[in-house]
Amino acid sequence: MFQKTGPLSVLHAFIDASRWRVSPENDAPARTGMISLYVLETGGCEGCAMEVESLCGSAFALERYGFRRVADPADADWLLVTGAMSRACVQMLDRVWKAMPPGKSLVAVGACAIDGGLFGAGYATLGGLKALTQVRKTIPGCPPSAQDILSGMQRLAGR
Ligand code: SF4
Repeated sequence: MFQKTGPLSVLHAFIDASRWRVSPENDAPARTGMISLYVLETGGCEGCAMEVESLCGSAFALERYGFRRVADPADADWLLVTGAMSRACVQMLDRVWKAMPPGKSLVAVGACAIDGGLFGAGYATLGGLKALTQVRKTIPGCPPSAQDILSGMQRLAGR
């Protein structure tokens, strides 16, 4: 658990990093069915989060592309993270990840989620998800547009 705050939180993040590494079990092959997405904003300027919201709106008809957004991480295949990894959100991220079923994947959307982007490691943030774990699924940009995110998800899904 990421129980500590302050400087120790970084240490605890690294101690727990092994649980976040993508295991062979989680390295699922490309799916052909519907992929369920749980979206989590963890910091940053929320530009990426707004693009994800746009993508999930009616303009894109996301389900026609084989993706759907879910409100419960227990129903999710992919965890889409936007924003820098703020210290305040580490425990929330941990809870969401634990609640997801086996076969789950972590997807970093935008520069901040990948490596911190404009928000380097400091008193308020750890940087990006790379500070916690190996991130295999990334969609770069600052911000990636809604279309970029959709194209990136299709690429990651092998479609
Ligand atoms: S990557 Fe750019 S747009 Fe996205 S949260 Fe960071 S600063 Fe904002």
